[in-house]
Amino acid sequence: MKVHILSDEMASRIAAGEVVERPASVVKELIENSLDAGAAEISVAIEKSGTSLIRVTDNGEGMEPEDLALAVERHATSKLTTEEDIFRVATLGFRGEALPSIASVSRMEIVSRPTTAATGYRIRVEGGKKAAPVVAGAPAGTTVEIRDIFFNTPARRKFLKSFATELSHVCDAVNRMALAFPEVHFRLGHDGRNIANYAAVSAGRDRLHQVLGREIAKGLIPFSWVRGQIKAHGYLSAAPTSFPNSRYLMTYVNRRFVRDKVVTHAVLQGYETLLMKGQYPAVILFVDIPWAEVDVNVHPAKYEVRFRRQSEVHEAVAGAVRQALRQEAKGPAPRAVALDPSSFGGVMEAQLPYAPRGIKPDGPDPRRNVFPMAPTHTATIREGFFASMDILGQVLGCYLVCSSPRGLALVDQHAAHERVVFEKLRQQLSSGEVQRQRLLIPQTIEATAGESMLLEHKLAALARFGFVLEAFGPDCYAITAVPALLAEGDYRPMVQQMVAELAEVERSEKLRQHLEERLATIACHSVIRANRQLEMTEMRALLRELDQIEFATQCPHGRPVLIEFSGDALAKMFKRVV
Ligand code: ADP
Ligand code: MG
Repeated sequence: MKVHILSDEMASRIAAGEVVERPASVVKELIENSLDAGAAEISVAIEKSGTSLIRVTDNGEGMEPEDLALAVERHATSKLTTEEDIFRVATLGFRGEALPSIASVSRMEIVSRPTTAATGYRIRVEGGKKAAPVVAGAPAGTTVEIRDIFFNTPARRKFLKSFATELSHVCDAVNRMALAFPEVHFRLGHDGRNIANYAAVSAGRDRLHQVLGREIAKGLIPFSWVRGQIKAHGYLSAAPTSFPNSRYLMTYVNRRFVRDKVVTHAVLQGYETLLMKGQYPAVILFVDIPWAEVDVNVHPAKYEVRFRRQSEVHEAVAGAVRQALRQEAKGPAPRAVALDPSSFGGVMEAQLPYAPRGIKPDGPDPRRNVFPMAPTHTATIREGFFASMDILGQVLGCYLVCSSPRGLALVDQHAAHERVVFEKLRQQLSSGEVQRQRLLIPQTIEATAGESMLLEHKLAALARFGFVLEAFGPDCYAITAVPALLAEGDYRPMVQQMVAELAEVERSEKLRQHLEERLATIACHSVIRANRQLEMTEMRALLRELDQIEFATQCPHGRPVLIEFSGDALAKMFKRVV
């Protein structure tokens, strides 16, 4: 006998609340139970998107009849024994609440046979009222069947969304678990049709292919990074691949799917300046951390966690992502990233919404995608790549046309220069101070009393960026030096904007991110604008500089610097091949 009722004391410590919100929540809880029971195969069958039937069958350890009878009671679990267990939960379940909660709003039937027993037992619970277990022939393992969810709570039934929506939630629930447990065979059937059948695989990458499909999976790069007792690993997309929502951003802690602000923030910080606003990467992130370092008893549906050492987790995750992207941008080892020009899903998307400061991009709508264009996958960029290209010329005053080892390459001179300046500024900033140039004619800023107070406070911060301001009479300041990389111009609006924005940033955590955003603005003001004829020597210098920096393939706003047409892509466009 393994199941027992938790003491009142223990039960009162469990995060209380509703777990059954919709069919997908039932599917999630039942799969968790099957995984906790050590199942190697889990089959989910649903009808009418789970509203009329949910059946989960596993080949796990099963339950004895006494356990079966207890398991559907409140606070009955086999997963916690001592008080301390709650601080080192190593199973997906631990609350002893799922089966009774589900049983109270449905007609439930469980058939189970332990691997070691000759016969199985069945128990029925309807609207929370249970009958005694009876003998039933069954294979080893457990089948839980839920019919007519919310039949006795019409108010909650009304909150269900369309069948299509509920079905997609069920699919998400299965897929999320499947990604974390590639060694388990998952099946999902709906109204007699097979929706998913993920055979057990030994490599996580194979499971990615099964769940996310070839297109998305092949663009994902594996990463792994250990920091102290924390390991952050998984798969991620390199810029410029991105998606308009966070659908493919999935995070797990000790194989449990979670929605955690700290973890998500860390992932996105790792991508900082590599993605355009409103764009998300695809990241399947697994954080492995000692059980005792994470509290999972926070949220009734167990979607949230609390880390004992939150900032360490944040650092490990952001570091892991950054490191992977950095390596990818340099392309350490030649990897066969086959460019398939006919299918750019997210990649093409990445170029669409870029409209900085409300300006609409000119030219034809790229969505029409008349020619398959291939923004070069960063994986294929290696050191010296840019300088190795032959420059054929410049078109439209803003693109360098080059012959690359793979075909035809276009470089956006503005985006390229912006990235170069940005990376240089970032290096200077992190190594102390930004190099300055003194202005021959200082530019003066008049300020109101309030503004000059603020300015006074921000002088040091401005100096770090390379802007030196000196008091110049009452409520008047003179800009006497600016970052050396900055082009000539009127610096006053930029300084005023920086002061206003620096004023809003009080918390230091935000400051770093903010600094980078500021750098991007400075970089943007300093660059060769489009529509300027470049000398050959200038073009060569620009390409050489791109080779010197990290993340050379995106401008600091996430716009691509380089677009390449491979020989294959060109052949396709000219219909030499089909
Ligand atoms: P919890 O998972 O939090 O312990 P549940 O209400 O989900 O609570 O399940 C109660 C108990 O029933 C579990 O602790 C487990 O011992 C048993 N159980 C539930 N589902 C299964 C299953 N598929 N196979 C074996 N045992 C199970
Ligand atoms: Mg459970």
